[in-house]
Amino acid sequence: MITAERKPLEEIIASVKPFQRILLVGCNECVTVCAAGGRKEVGLLASALQMHFMTEGKTIDIKEITLERQCDPEYVEELNVHMDQADAVLSMACGCGVQEIARRYREKPVFPAVNTKFMGASERQGVWAERCQGCGDCLLGLTGGICPIARCSKRLLNGPCGGSTTGKCEISPEVDCVWQLIWDRLKALGMQDRYEDITPAKNWQTGRGGGPRKIIREDLAE
Ligand code: SF4
Ligand code: SF4
Repeated sequence: MITAERKPLEEIIASVKPFQRILLVGCNECVTVCAAGGRKEVGLLASALQMHFMTEGKTIDIKEITLERQCDPEYVEELNVHMDQADAVLSMACGCGVQEIARRYREKPVFPAVNTKFMGASERQGVWAERCQGCGDCLLGLTGGICPIARCSKRLLNGPCGGSTTGKCEISPEVDCVWQLIWDRLKALGMQDRYEDITPAKNWQTGRGGGPRKIIREDLAE
């Protein structure tokens, strides 16, 4: 899923300060799971903003709404009935949701209330870790299902580097060397011979190196 964290309150306050009527929009998907921008966080942020502006002697009108998916025009359309009463939109979705609102409502200023982080998985309650960088040509079949692009600090395709020490990455003793993890996994699977295979230089054009990407499903496209 896409992970995110709420921006510092002061930054959010600075962005909405010039406006009187704010449409505060959450999203029911990833940002709900990572507790950054779902219905509950929308309520908490609305209260915090009300409180802040009240202490400044300013009244602010905040309309709260949480969409099923903010990156999907079908659901964003639900905002139509609220836009006339809004001076600005504050979005608690990931950057995709913020941009969908900006694309659709060109006349309204839209501000992000969260910082979008990475594609990750939950390690345990309250902890999410980066797992994929969307390289567009997945290598997991070669690496025991562990991604060296997202999880090696140097994105090495043939590791480890000389900095790997007792299974830890040179950037921190708290960070596992992903190539140690890959070796352990291949060994457990009886597939150590895969480790000897040299992975050729990657074509980064399938990832961000090729510019903004698009998926077109001919069978679904209108
Ligand atoms: S190899 Fe590429 S697509 Fe596969 S998990 Fe890693 S970054 Fe994501
Ligand atoms: S120590 Fe391991 S994870 Fe860290 S940069 Fe080197 S190969 Fe990558």
